Amino acid sequence: MDIAGIDAQAVAEVQKEVVDLLADLIRIDTSNPPGNETQAALFLDKWFRARGLEGEIVGEPAHRKNFVLRLEGTRPGPTLLLLAHMDVVPAEPPAWSVPPFAGVVRDDHVWGRGADDIKNLVAAHAVAVSRLAASGRDFAGTVIYAATADEEEGTDCGARWLVRNRPDLVKSDYLLNEGGGEFDVIRGERVYELNTGEKGTAQFRLTVHGEAGHASVPLRKGNAVVAAAQIIQALHEYDPEVHMEHLPVDYVRMLVDDADLCERLLDPVTARAALRELHERDDQTARLLEPHYGVTFSPTIVHSSSEAINVFPEKVEVTVDCRTLAGRGEDEVRAEVDRALAGIEAPWDLEFVGSVMGNASPDSSPLGDAIDRVMQRHVPGAKIVGLHCVGFTDSNWFRAAFPDVVAYGFGPYIEEDVSITGDLTHNHDERIHVKDVTFQAVFAEGLVRELLR
Ligand SMILES: [Zn+2]
Repeated sequence: MDIAGIDAQAVAEVQKEVVDLLADLIRIDTSNPPGNETQAALFLDKWFRARGLEGEIVGEPAHRKNFVLRLEGTRPGPTLLLLAHMDVVPAEPPAWSVPPFAGVVRDDHVWGRGADDIKNLVAAHAVAVSRLAASGRDFAGTVIYAATADEEEGTDCGARWLVRNRPDLVKSDYLLNEGGGEFDVIRGERVYELNTGEKGTAQFRLTVHGEAGHASVPLRKGNAVVAAAQIIQALHEYDPEVHMEHLPVDYVRMLVDDADLCERLLDPVTARAALRELHERDDQTARLLEPHYGVTFSPTIVHSSSEAINVFPEKVEVTVDCRTLAGRGEDEVRAEVDRALAGIEAPWDLEFVGSVMGNASPDSSPLGDAIDRVMQRHVPGAKIVGLHCVGFTDSNWFRAAFPDVVAYGFGPYIEEDVSITGDLTHNHDERIHVKDVTFQAVFAEGLVRELLR
């Protein structure tokens, strides 16, 4: 699909610049670990200097720095931060059809690690900012461009470092980050996902205690392996309490055709039974919706204290990936686990192994309105649905540090829908259509002009 509301000449200019920059960024290997994002920060510094703009390279340690540039408009107004991380997940070359760090452009795509997560936005935002500067900074307020380190693993040196150590540089009224912008075509309509918040994590380890001893005679009670199996089953079957405060109601209505089932999905009393019914009919849709109803438990690791076949272990550990709704944390998880395991006789205890409280911005805001207006100009009829991301993004650190910031994830695609783009993140043969990264640049420039009018 072509980009409406902008002349072909401008699109061609943006495309040339953004594709070149993205390919150059992919050629700088910022696999995390170890990251080495400073190389990419230095490259961006040079790229902006060549366009008469000066930013700052900040952060620690020395090889994991961030690049931040502030551009003042000609009139006073609010501040919008365009955020994207420079690090990428590692790539295993044998699985790829192109070398993952070569920045290959072919078949209308830019190929390589980071092409879709999220050097595309590092490049798109850079081109948008440089065009805003070149055309006279005709906006009201300040645009901050931030290309950050350490998002994929660790999350210490990038966004988190900046909000702690350089709030003067990155505190903003509005923030646009990765995490949304993919589209699906539902009953003929283009539906875009706008991430208005993120779920949290409260992963935990359950230690199940048993009676150690020789296994030649079965234990009727006290085998920690059997108790662990019961615990896993109980967690799997448990229906956590339904909380609808962040349920994307419009999205439920769009995805579920059957009006009766839809109403039951929107009623907290009937929602769990309705979700089970939806799993039977359309598992894919059920899996999209279920995480928005409450806490989720996914047991992923089981470890016995004994390696010997003929010995009952003293303890078995069950590790559970647990995700919480924004604003809800460990206390609630503990209470839910207590309820889920109420029928288990064996002694167990729970230890959290890494929790981050999820957070969210308001569903509607001037930023959301501006996003909608820019989208309507370029993709007439696009529907934008706000929902919370089940994963984690750096928006979390900004919302936690600056409670007034409105932070959304949105880097819109125009050519390839989520059935294609959804599979590419962290996968081999990661790539992006040139029209998509071009549109992401056009969109970011348009958003600054629209929001900071
Ligand atoms: Zn990412």
